Amino acid sequence: MKKHNFNAGPCILPRIALENTAKAVLDFNGIGMSILEISHRSKEFQAVMDETVALFKELLNIPEGYQVLFLGGGASLQFCMVPFNLLNKKAAYLETGVWAKKAIKEAKFFGEVVVVGTSSDKNFTYIPKGWEIPADADYFHITTNNTIYGTEIREDFNSPVPLIADMSSDIFSRQVDVSKYAMIYGGAQKNAGPAGVTFVIVREDVLGKVDRNIPSMLDYRIHIKEGSMFNTPPCISIFVMKETLKWVKEMGGVKKMEEMDRAKAKLLYDAIDNSKMFTGTANKDARSIMNICFVMKDQYKDKEDAFMEFAKLHGMVGIKGHRSVGGFRASTYNALPVESVQALIDCMKDFELGNA
Ligand SMILES: *Cc1c(COP(=O)(O)O)cnc(C)c1O
Repeated sequence: MKKHNFNAGPCILPRIALENTAKAVLDFNGIGMSILEISHRSKEFQAVMDETVALFKELLNIPEGYQVLFLGGGASLQFCMVPFNLLNKKAAYLETGVWAKKAIKEAKFFGEVVVVGTSSDKNFTYIPKGWEIPADADYFHITTNNTIYGTEIREDFNSPVPLIADMSSDIFSRQVDVSKYAMIYGGAQKNAGPAGVTFVIVREDVLGKVDRNIPSMLDYRIHIKEGSMFNTPPCISIFVMKETLKWVKEMGGVKKMEEMDRAKAKLLYDAIDNSKMFTGTANKDARSIMNICFVMKDQYKDKEDAFMEFAKLHGMVGIKGHRSVGGFRASTYNALPVESVQALIDCMKDFELGNA
């Protein structure tokens, strides 16, 4: 049976990226060896690295003065690397979910943290508004897409201090004005590629300003100097990311991704809003176009397990909501075809017919 892959991350990748990777794993570019078997310092792998950096710059329209790094450790290591490199005295954070909380926790090891706004009072179902960024903060950190709660910030703030964003789960889903950010980072395993590689886009002039010493592996300046090859980079993950971004480019770039992502999200949100049984969990003005969270209305709550089973029988994968929200979550990342969204909607309607 056809599977509809709504996994939250790692998640669905473009078929062509998988096919090209399968070939490169067996014989890379006809060199008679696997991409897994060659030196990261070979000219063949250097070309992979260079092309991936170039794709980032082109697709995101990254201005001069920024560097693109591919590191290990996941977005979670960035929660500590960011303050290590940039927090001298005080930093401001917007608390919009568990990932933001984790970033805040790490920053507290390095200095004062001002949480300018939080939506924790309503289990992160909205994006706090009306906050102010302290002018003396070293930076302001936001999480643009809150993967667990299905809320998203889809605008580029004007910040009086360097703006830093965790874009793990919505990078390449809209045309970001990179010039408004000092840094953008994320684990690749949602929209950008497979697990194992972390992207960091950093404006060089914000580095080198903290008083502390920084261990080499945690120092952005060293990774910049070494072209992301201070140590062995996650070669295969970078290769799959390159193939994923080539697909994004061939499809028409980030603008096209945004169109497709918006259309998929609208289909599913409309179905939820028009349903007798299901209801969305995030505030409508904060709804994510990447992770769509919904539950059963109170009077049908006891049918959630039955719907899970029903959906599974119809090929739906990965729609269980995060344990802190419950219900269901459909992640509709770039590579997810609209047919899968339609199949989920059909499934919801069929279930409703038999049960509501
Ligand atoms: C998935 C995710 C993370 C965690 O990334 P790791 O690479 O597993 O550390 C962090 N932030 C956001 C917004 C995420 O969606």
